[in-house]
Amino acid sequence: MRIVIVGGGFAGIKTALELGNKPGFEITLISERANFEYHGALYRSGTGRSPLEVVIPLRDILPRAKNVTFVQDKIIGIDAPKKRVISETGNIYPYDRLVLAMGNVVNYFGISNMDELSMSLDTIANTITLRHRLTELFKSQKPNIKIAVIGAGPAGVELAGELQHYARLVAEKYKKQVKKVSVILVDGAARVLPTLLPEASKKALARLRRLGVHVRLNTQLNSCEPGKVCLDSGDLEADLIVWTAGSHAVNFYSNHPEIFTMEHGRVRVNQYLQVADRPDIYVLGDNASTPYSGMAQTALSDAKFLAANLIREKAGQPVQWYKAQKPIYAVPIGPHWAIIQTATKVMSGTRAWLVRRRADLAIYRNFEPYKQALKTYRKGNRLADF
Ligand SMILES: Cc1cc2nc3c(=O)[nH]c(=O)nc-3n(C[C@H](O)[C@H](O)[C@H](O)COP(=O)(O)OP(=O)(O)OC[C@H]3O[C@@H](n4cnc5c(N)ncnc54)[C@H](O)[C@@H]3O)c2cc1C
Repeated sequence: MRIVIVGGGFAGIKTALELGNKPGFEITLISERANFEYHGALYRSGTGRSPLEVVIPLRDILPRAKNVTFVQDKIIGIDAPKKRVISETGNIYPYDRLVLAMGNVVNYFGISNMDELSMSLDTIANTITLRHRLTELFKSQKPNIKIAVIGAGPAGVELAGELQHYARLVAEKYKKQVKKVSVILVDGAARVLPTLLPEASKKALARLRRLGVHVRLNTQLNSCEPGKVCLDSGDLEADLIVWTAGSHAVNFYSNHPEIFTMEHGRVRVNQYLQVADRPDIYVLGDNASTPYSGMAQTALSDAKFLAANLIREKAGQPVQWYKAQKPIYAVPIGPHWAIIQTATKVMSGTRAWLVRRRADLAIYRNFEPYKQALKTYRKGNRLADF
């Protein structure tokens, strides 16, 4: 069975590895980048840690799976009746089964100039650009620095919690006085981490305030100008604006409305993660409209589910229905502190942070043998060359 997987992220790579070395499968994994990126560690790279804990070359992950061929290419088109996808370089990839897991892009909700005037934390390239800008500011002659972080979901909260600490690291390295940094975290919702339980939001808010972060809730951002964000509660000056307030599926799907139906920025899938009327096309991870989409854990469990079903199908066994797995939320806020929410409880503090760090290691174990995963994990203990 010829399987073409598009997207070298959590769902795409995990599917390839789960089908790796399984007889009867010939897999082509196509991705625009040659590396896997662990987004959960991006806030650390943005605030001084080594980017090597975010980036793992696919050539280090895939050789274990002998039936997987990696191609670096960008898919832009699909010919579903002829069962093939087409890349921007004109390459054509025929498939028996197509697995799409292309992840999300930043959503600015049509706010004009926001993409040009703000920085983002969505890829390692953008995160390193953000870190350079922060370093410049913390080294500069400016007496007071104002940073506005828009979006109080996990990414915004994680970043906001680390900024003061990074200012201290920069001051220490360049033998400067520690800057007075005002971090303002803005969100239209009534609480920080609005998708978590109210108890978790309450603890997170108290922690952010202890770290000196000014939190502005129930506040909409209407527009943005150089050095300023315009909020419905008044204008806010900012030396740096970071946008973490939204994302949606890559435009590939909305460019093909004859095949894909979108709901809440994601692709509608059935109980097998297939696209309606196209049982040979599967959509996984952030792109699929499933209950816990938007989490790495969901992308990984989607991949395991699909691979198991394809193996069953090949063996002539009945396939199973998709069952969404409730994820565990783990949000670090400032050095050595995190909040964890499981199905039954919320915990916080240094122990929760240690649990989160163990979860980081567990993520690498999905892609690398134990010793290699441990090496990747330990790279995060090093500082970057900022
Ligand atoms: C800042 C941040 C922090 C996060 N923290 C956490 C966390 O702590 N815990 C958690 O569970 N989740 C977290 N997430 C969410 C998590 O990263 C995603 O849920 C996960 O990456 C989704 O996996 P995926 O395989 O669907 O997509 P991705 O991992 O994004 O992979 C998509 C891949 O497809 C490639 N691609 C895109 N378009 C094309 C194309 N046209 N052709 C070829 N290749 C293409 C991309 O380059 C990428 O390699 C975080 C996300 C962000 C942005």
